[in-house]
Parts: sequence; C-alpha cells; structure tokens
Amino acid sequence: MHVVAATGRDDLARVYIAQAGPGRHVEFVESVQPPLPREKKWVLVVSCLFGCPFSCRMCDAGGKYQGKLSREEIDFQIDYPVRKRFPNGVIPSEKFKIQFARMGEPALNPAVLEAIAALPGRLKAPGLIVSLSTIAPAGCGEFFQRLLEVKESFRPGAFQFQFSLHSSDEQKRRELIPAPTWSFAEMAAYGRRFFRSGDRKVTLNFALAEGYPLDAGALLSWFDPACFLVKITPVNPTVRARENGLRPVFDGKRRDGETAERLRRAGYEVIVSIGELEENAIGSNCGQFVRSFLARGADARPGESYSYGLEALAAGD
Ligand code: SF4
Repeated sequence: MHVVAATGRDDLARVYIAQAGPGRHVEFVESVQPPLPREKKWVLVVSCLFGCPFSCRMCDAGGKYQGKLSREEIDFQIDYPVRKRFPNGVIPSEKFKIQFARMGEPALNPAVLEAIAALPGRLKAPGLIVSLSTIAPAGCGEFFQRLLEVKESFRPGAFQFQFSLHSSDEQKRRELIPAPTWSFAEMAAYGRRFFRSGDRKVTLNFALAEGYPLDAGALLSWFDPACFLVKITPVNPTVRARENGLRPVFDGKRRDGETAERLRRAGYEVIVSIGELEENAIGSNCGQFVRSFLARGADARPGESYSYGLEALAAGD
C-alpha cells in the first residue's frame, strides 16, 4: 500500500488516496479543528473496504466494491499520518480520535476488530479515542458482539459508537440506505448494551436532507435519551447526493435550530455539526476524493503521484 495522491491543507483537513493494487484505492483523512492545534485535537478517518457493496444515496463510496482491507492496510492509514506528524511515534494530542467511518461499512470487515483491538498497545497515544460509525447491516451480529468485547480494553469514554440513521422514519431510511439493516428496535437494544457509565452516549447521526423527517416523538419511542444522543449534520454535497436530488435541510447559512430545540425538549443531548464548509471543497466527505481521482483515469498511470488543488475540487471536477 502506498499513497498516490493528497489534497487539502495542514491547518484543516488533508485527504490521502492510497493504492493497494490495480483498481484498489482507498482514501483516508487527517484533520484538525481550528483554532485548536494538533496537540489539542487530531482526528484520523480511515477506510475499511475498497469501495462499498451498499449504495447509500448520499455517499460517493458506494458501488465498485473491490473487497476488504487487510489488518495491515488499515494500520497503514493510521501509521502514515502518525509518522508524518510525529516521527518519534509519540502522539501528544490531548484528544487523538481515530474514526472507522470512511469508505466502506466497517461491520463487513473483521480485520477492523483486530486493528482496533491492537491500537492501545501499538500506539503511544494517551489521548486515544476510537469511534466506529455504522449503518448496522443485517447479518453482522458476530461483528457487533465481538466489538462489545474489544471495547472492554478501552477506558470509559474512549470508545465511541454511532448509528447512521438519517431519518426517524424507518421506511424513509430504507430509501436512503437501500440495504438490509437492523431495525430501530435492534439498534436500540444493542445501544443499551454498548453504553456504560462514563461512556459518551451512543450517537444517532442524521445527515438531514429535505423530505427525510427527524421527529423527536418517533425517535423517543425507540431510543432512550439516557443512552443515546443525537448528532445533526447537513447532507454533504457529494456527487451521489446531487444525482439523487438530496438537498440539505440546513447548512452554514441556514441553521436548523428548531429541530435541535425540539430534540432537546424531548430530553436528548444534541450536537449540531455544520463542519467546515471548506471541507467540501477539499473533498473530505466520504468517497468524494477517490471518486474524483479515479474519474481522472488514475489507474492508467499507476505509481505516479497526484496532488489536486482545492480549486479543482471546489469546481466539482
Ligand atoms: S454510507 Fe457507509 S454503508 Fe453506505 S455506501 Fe457509504 S460507506 Fe457504504
């Protein structure tokens, strides 16, 4: 595995593409949260699959599935930025978060469990926090059971877990995520097992798009605010979202305070995450950069290095 392209800015987000063989590309990201320096907070987002067998309507990673990453290939996406930023291998960041949330549904790859389990012993990172985000595919019960066991080796609060819901209406969710997944009842039951005292609550993530409701009452009937929190983000302007006519309910200019307020009144802790608008230009939304890279015929020139300017990505090239 080697890095064949990179874009972005050191003071916000850098997206890398790594190649493991012909047609096998993944993207991974390192980011900081201005104005915090890297020593305060540093976030890595790593891929778990080459592409993804699912085709969520807002995600550029879907389709063209080329298989699972090996444990070594997952480790590479962590070790590469660590070596680059902290050559002595000591990661001083007070909060060093590694998100298994990028290209590919993590629950489809058992090597993700091996990679996560090894992290506390492998990295010199006192601020380590792991986060895993999933659509909760059906048939992955063994993965999720083992995840509960792996979590036990992390201190309370150092392992975060997120279900990507996107709507409180299960039927509408199936339109956005056309894959067999757990029901809300199954997710609620698992979340209750996952959450322990001292943990961050299990996150219910909503990338809100017009026509896909987030109703506090509907959510309450399944998810207890004592162990679930709600995170609202705008649906990102990916190629797939545009093709599918998904329009954000809110963005940096239009903030959706009402939805957040209703959820808070229902008892939920709510995080509204607009993100840095420039991240869209950088292409750090899932699958955006690798899609752009492959559209340029990168496979025809293996081994060559690429570095695209922000302007090109902002122009939607
Ligand atoms: S959102 Fe996740 S599960 Fe859906 S296509 Fe993208 S990577 Fe796959």
